[in-house]
Amino acid sequence: MKMPAFAAAKIFRSASRHRLYSTFHKIMDNLAPPKAGARAASSFVFDKAFVNGEWVAASSGKTFEVVNPANGKVIGSVPDMDAADTEKAVQVAYKAFQSWKETTAKERAALLKRWGELVHENKEELAKLLTSEMGKPLAESVGELNYGAGFLELFAEEAKRVEGDIIQTPIKTRRLLVLKQPIGVSGMITPWNFPNAMITRKAGAAIAAGCTVVLKPAEDTPYSALALCDLAKQAGIPAGVLNVVTSSRDNASQVGKVLCKSPLVTKLSFTGSTFVGKLLLEQCASTVKKVSLELGGNAPFIVFPSADVDAAVLGAMGAKFRCSGQTCVCANRFYIHESIYDEFVQKFGATVEKELRMGDGTAPGTTQGPLINKKAVEKIEAQVQDAVGKGAKIVCGGKSTGGNFFEPTVLTGVTDDMRCAKEENFGPIAGVIKFKTEDEVVALANATSSGLAGYFYSRDLGQIWRVAERLETGLVGVNEGVISVPDAPFGGWKESGLGREGGRYGIDEYLEIKYVCMGGL
Ligand code: NAP
Repeated sequence: MKMPAFAAAKIFRSASRHRLYSTFHKIMDNLAPPKAGARAASSFVFDKAFVNGEWVAASSGKTFEVVNPANGKVIGSVPDMDAADTEKAVQVAYKAFQSWKETTAKERAALLKRWGELVHENKEELAKLLTSEMGKPLAESVGELNYGAGFLELFAEEAKRVEGDIIQTPIKTRRLLVLKQPIGVSGMITPWNFPNAMITRKAGAAIAAGCTVVLKPAEDTPYSALALCDLAKQAGIPAGVLNVVTSSRDNASQVGKVLCKSPLVTKLSFTGSTFVGKLLLEQCASTVKKVSLELGGNAPFIVFPSADVDAAVLGAMGAKFRCSGQTCVCANRFYIHESIYDEFVQKFGATVEKELRMGDGTAPGTTQGPLINKKAVEKIEAQVQDAVGKGAKIVCGGKSTGGNFFEPTVLTGVTDDMRCAKEENFGPIAGVIKFKTEDEVVALANATSSGLAGYFYSRDLGQIWRVAERLETGLVGVNEGVISVPDAPFGGWKESGLGREGGRYGIDEYLEIKYVCMGGL
């Protein structure tokens, strides 16, 4: 693969950069070269963080390594920033906010639209980068980039639809107005499982509203975040509007504390585990910040007797095994009616064995990439051992195959007291549970502190309405296993979160409402 001159200039700036490029380049050499006119994936690999429109090192000079989860190889290193670096980024974002909030929605929309177009134009190459740091198969990475760019397109449109109100006045000499204004500097912390889309879903909405951003990506996946910064700059988004502070897991808590406690930051948006979400919510209390949280799930997947079983199996495959089970909306508990239980289990197990293939996400035919790290594999192993120890049977899979790989697994005879049903799996295991009645299964589905997604298959119209309304979740898939789109609101009930992202509701999280009373008229 020939390296473009501008990429070479950037890459050979430092020794570490050279090493990074070499490893990354070796992986990418085995893949199709970029399309004519497109930038190579390697030109999106940055070894600096992005603050005030510049590529910057940590003030300590420290860096941390990023590892390809498919093969354990170090693909490079990025700055390990700390509290002081984050304070600086917050100051930059605060200063930029003073002018960014004065721009028109039309101006912001044009920049966001261009940013989204640039993601689309470069998506094949950005997908290679995403797969190398996160592990998901290339086709899924392309899917994520389409989804991620979709948020930029959506919020470019929504920017122009932020409208106030004029309220009927009860007092003749007054007029009552409602204004919606940008909330200010928005702190953001994002996870590794959607290294592109979780950023565009938050930053797209904030920037559309007229806010500025300081974002900390996950330790495992900083490159996709930095690539987005490069494209934002190319799109013309001004310096200081989008700032990305990279940090290792060791520094995550001090970076998070600044974003939560700084009085200059007026909004915090987090996607990640419920445990960390609760901690950040507590920290934000000190400045009474507006907070939105997208946290963990424990999605039920119910198949009623009237369902099309083949369609349910297909839906179950998507709801469980995409991203190797590592999405917050992945099905976590499969409740199958006793009358179709055997048929469903036989077809589900056979489809898993026939259709799914583990491997490096860049290898043709791979449907199941690695899990993100060893800890994730150990958690899945422990959940399978617990289930088998309590009487569950393995239909297929059931073990780790080395490295970060775990076989796609179906378990039957699962009960609600097993760890695989109580805890979020975040891995490729499907525990199947038998049920008898609608009331029983709705009660079981709701018997959890999580409330993110729920799925069910039925062809009984009355039942479809009843169950859709009775599930205590923010998202419901009826006869569909993969339901997220940029245009629909995304968010959880109960301990799965606060607020909504995406759709026309997503921008509200970055707006303050102001009542203006004009008197003496
Ligand atoms: P996590 O450990 O909570 O990490 C998420 C982010 O928080 C990462 O950037 C992480 O940094 C950072 N972080 C960790 N500890 C922190 C602290 N004390 N202060 C500030 N930041 C901190 O979650 P994860 O294991 O990476 O992600 C999986 C979880 O995310 C699952 O529960 C999943 O359901 C949830 N999730 C939810 C949604 C949703 O929309 N509801 C979407 C995707 C994922 P480091 O990477 O440096 O540790």
